[in-house]
Amino acid sequence: LRVLGIESSCDDTAAAIVSGDGQIISETCRHQHQVHETYGGIVPGLAADHHLRNMPLVVRETLEKAGMRMSDVDAVAVTRGPGLPASLSVGVAAGKTLAAVHGKPLVGVHHMEAHALMARMGAEDEVRFPYLCLLISGGHTQSLVVHDVNEHTLLGSTRDDSVGEAFDKIARELDIAWLHTQDGGGAGPALEALARSGDPARFALPLPMEKSDSARSLDFSFSGLKTRIKRMRELGEFSAASRQDQADVAAAFQHAAAEHLRRKTRLALAHAAAEMGVAATCLVASGGVASNQAVRGALSELAARSGIPLVCPPPRLCTDNGVMIAWAGVERLRRGLLDSYDIDFIQRWPLDQLKRMGYQPRA
Ligand code: ATP
Ligand code: FE
Repeated sequence: LRVLGIESSCDDTAAAIVSGDGQIISETCRHQHQVHETYGGIVPGLAADHHLRNMPLVVRETLEKAGMRMSDVDAVAVTRGPGLPASLSVGVAAGKTLAAVHGKPLVGVHHMEAHALMARMGAEDEVRFPYLCLLISGGHTQSLVVHDVNEHTLLGSTRDDSVGEAFDKIARELDIAWLHTQDGGGAGPALEALARSGDPARFALPLPMEKSDSARSLDFSFSGLKTRIKRMRELGEFSAASRQDQADVAAAFQHAAAEHLRRKTRLALAHAAAEMGVAATCLVASGGVASNQAVRGALSELAARSGIPLVCPPPRLCTDNGVMIAWAGVERLRRGLLDSYDIDFIQRWPLDQLKRMGYQPRA
C-alpha cells in the first residue's frame, strides 16, 4: 500500500508518499516562513498564492524522489480541514483531481487527526488505542482520548490562545528574530533556542488557572502569560534590547507553559480513567510545540509517573508535513473510510465531530 498525502491547511505546501508499513518513501515541504515573518504572522491571501504556485511542483518532486508515477500510487489523501479556506481549497482541488483522473481512492483527512495519528507510524505496537493525546500546535491546544481512528473524545481545550500562538506572540514581545532552518524554524524554535541560556527563576511567572474552580478544569489558558509579559515590558521590568533579559523571560515563559501543560494533562489522564473508564496505554504529544524540549521533559516526567510511555513524533513530523496526511490516509483506508471525488474543504471542524460532518464510510 502506497499513499500520496497532500497538505496545505496553513502556510506549508507539503506532500509525501508513505507505505502501509509506515515507511516514508519520499517527502517534500515548501515553507513560507520568510514570506510571513515581516507581517509577524500568516497572511491568508499570500499563503494561498504560494500554495497555488508550489502545489504542482511539490507533488511532482515527491513522485520524482520516489521514482514513482501516479499509476504506482494506491490512494490519495488530502487535508480537508480545519484550516484557512483559501489554503485548504488548493490542496483539496489538487488531491481530488489527481485521485479522480487516475482512478485512485480518495481520503479526506482531518488535519488534527493526522497530528494525533502521526505517533503511530512505525510504532503501532507501542501506540495502541486508546491513548491520551495532547495536540499542541499553532492553532490548537487540546487533550483528547483517541479511542480509534475516527473516534475521539475531546477533554480539554484552550480558552484563549493556543500554546503555539503564545510562543509566537511572546517571541514578538521579546523582539526575537525567527529562526530559519531547513526544517522550517519560526518563532517558537527561536524562543526555545534563546531560553536555553536563560534563568527561568529570575522572572518566575504565576501558572495559569491555578485558582479555585479553574484548577479543576481540563481546559488550558495562555493569554494571561502573554499579558503579564507585555505588562512587565511596559513597566520596564526587563529590556528586550538585553539578550540576557530576553533569555530569562523566554525561559520563565517556557517553564510556565510546560508546567501548565503537564498539570492539565495529568488531570486529563485522571479524568479519562475515573470518568470514562479509559486506561490510556500511552501519552502522545504532537503538533509543533511537541518538538519543544522543555515541554517534552515535563510530559515525559508525567508519563513516567503514570507508568506509561510518552511518544512524540520526531520534531520534523510534529509540525505540518505531508507524511502525517499520507499516514492518516493509510490508517483510514485500512478501515474503509474513503471519500467521494466531490468533497469540499471544511474550515471549522471539531475533531469529535468526524462522524457527523462528512465522514460516512463508503459501502
Ligand atoms: P494547527 O495544526 O493547529 O492548524 P499549525 O499546523 O500551524 O496549527 P504546527 O505546524 O503544528 O501548527 O506548529 C506550529 C506552532 O508550533 C507555531 O506556533 C510554532 O511557533 C510552534 N513551535 C514549533 N516548534 C516549536 C518549539 N521548538 N518550541 C515551541 N514552539 C514551537
Ligand atoms: Fe498543524
